[in-house]
Amino acid sequence: MQDPPLLIAPAAKVPCRYMLLRRRLAQLLRQLGVEATDGPDAVIGALARRLGCEIEIDRNHLFAVPGYFGATAITPRGYLILVQVNTSPEHQAHIVMHESAHIMLGTTNEAAESLFRGTHRTGSYDNPLERDAEFVARTISTWMGAARDARLTAQTDERAARLARSLEDRIAWS
Ligand SMILES: [Zn+2]
Repeated sequence: MQDPPLLIAPAAKVPCRYMLLRRRLAQLLRQLGVEATDGPDAVIGALARRLGCEIEIDRNHLFAVPGYFGATAITPRGYLILVQVNTSPEHQAHIVMHESAHIMLGTTNEAAESLFRGTHRTGSYDNPLERDAEFVARTISTWMGAARDARLTAQTDERAARLARSLEDRIAWS
């Protein structure tokens, strides 16, 4: 569906690779036109527009396994993110972001591999592709959380509002 991936993770031995990945993610989110205050749904919407496909989310999927669980299926229209029905809303939001990270990184096929005998079942992040997806998901959530905390007073003037937004964005990434 995407070739090359929207977000290219640096090679395993590259020094400061997570710092680099974070920088590339920040750049991608800017290119997608997503601001930290837009919320997680905006990331998914922008991702779907950029890829020219649909990203559907089924938050009520009943997996035949206990506990938290998520997966991404490739459909004729794009991607379908499936989330275990018996999962708290906070955990569901995190699972959706983790699956979106796999889509950005182009690792949905590899994630399918770890579905039944790896990370998505055990919660162990030995697999580097799973670690990257988790890092990206957590970085986006932290960025959005920091932007909420850094929220400035509402500006009536559009220029001041623009400046406030860019300051909030800087604070969120710092
Ligand atoms: Zn995963």
